[in-house]
Amino acid sequence: MKPIVIRCPVKGRWSFLNPPGHHPDAKDFVAVDENAKPYKGIALLKHLLGRLKVSEVFSWEAPVFAPFDGSIIKVENACEDRQRLSLISDVYSGLFLGKQEYAEHENEFFGNHIIMQSNHGIYALFAHLKKGSVQVKQGDKIKTGNPLASIGNSGNSIQPHLHFHLMQENEPLTSEPLPFVFSACELQNDTLWTKVKNTLPKNRRVFRVVDGA
Ligand SMILES: [Zn+2]
Repeated sequence: MKPIVIRCPVKGRWSFLNPPGHHPDAKDFVAVDENAKPYKGIALLKHLLGRLKVSEVFSWEAPVFAPFDGSIIKVENACEDRQRLSLISDVYSGLFLGKQEYAEHENEFFGNHIIMQSNHGIYALFAHLKKGSVQVKQGDKIKTGNPLASIGNSGNSIQPHLHFHLMQENEPLTSEPLPFVFSACELQNDTLWTKVKNTLPKNRRVFRVVDGA
């Protein structure tokens, strides 16, 4: 299937840090610094030891924007954000709880989330949003680039990030994610940035989106 062209739903410098086993057409957006890190260097030790705070992660509270014109189908805005991050215990519980247990509980899996439908009928899921940050409500008509919410750490999330995917049906747990590309973004090559169109950066490649792209 031909990838769907969308506006990137975040601005600034990002990388896709999909964990092993993650669906390749769904992406985990993580904000990164000039060293491609999601938080300052020393924080990795704090993360392992369970002492990292969400506010130390660059993705925390980053705004999320509409990737196309459409309407809001569903909003969940009341799930707690997990404030303390512990890589070891989170990975352990993530491995042993398994996905099936979450299957009946969309909020446990996605936390605060938005489902938006494009004017062409495609659905988009934005997951792990910050509690209380959702600025839209069911039925709202939305234009490309309108702010929707901020990134949080709700649901099944080991650190603040945006889980985003497109789908044919409004069934985020079962509908197969659809491939997409960004209408425009820039890819990092050492200190240079290369503008590209209708491209999706590879996982772990640093890319950025500046206003007006
Ligand atoms: Zn994800």
